[in-house]
Amino acid sequence: MSSRRIYVLRLGHRPQRDKRISTHVGLVARAFGAHGIIYSGGKDENLLRSLRKVVDLWGGDFDIRYESDWREVIREWKERGGVVIHLTMYGENIASSDVLKRIKETGADLLIVVGAEKVPGRLFELADFNVAIGNQPHSEVAALALFLDRLYAGRELLKEFKGAKLRIVPQSKGKKVIYSLK
Ligand code: SAM
Repeated sequence: MSSRRIYVLRLGHRPQRDKRISTHVGLVARAFGAHGIIYSGGKDENLLRSLRKVVDLWGGDFDIRYESDWREVIREWKERGGVVIHLTMYGENIASSDVLKRIKETGADLLIVVGAEKVPGRLFELADFNVAIGNQPHSEVAALALFLDRLYAGRELLKEFKGAKLRIVPQSKGKKVIYSLK
């Protein structure tokens, strides 16, 4: 996997309504090879806590934080030379354009932005790339998973999560989990 840093920015979290889906965005970001997630919208300590628990048990180096001002997150990311990718059904279709190739060619750190309900129109201008995972409405969880999988060409599924207390031994049937007290 490449050495570029990849973060996810989840916009417009609503603690009551989006608890489950925002958790899934974080789980997918971690499991599919991102280095961290930044939540914006309503502050939700429970969400941050439950994801940190996952990292503690299942390992890996994964940063989880909240920032109230998403525009500032994007501004800082770009100031440091990073590239901003907005996943949106209105963007360039990843399957019928060369947008992924152009993103890879930047060689830059990537901030992948996903929305909750309606995203602010300004985001389309602030993003360096507006990318569609197909031009049909679906879900930020699916869009993020597919984008990361295409970016890493499947290698993220073999990623080792250092410092894990729990590790699964893959089985054709049943469950085998190794517990280590580190
Ligand atoms: N109707 C909302 C809008 O117009 O912004 C979209 C809400 S959708 C449930 C939540 C998020 O899922 C979007 O902000 C986007 O990040 C992601 N998403 C949904 N469909 C997508 C697609 N086809 N391609 C890329 N991202 C998508």
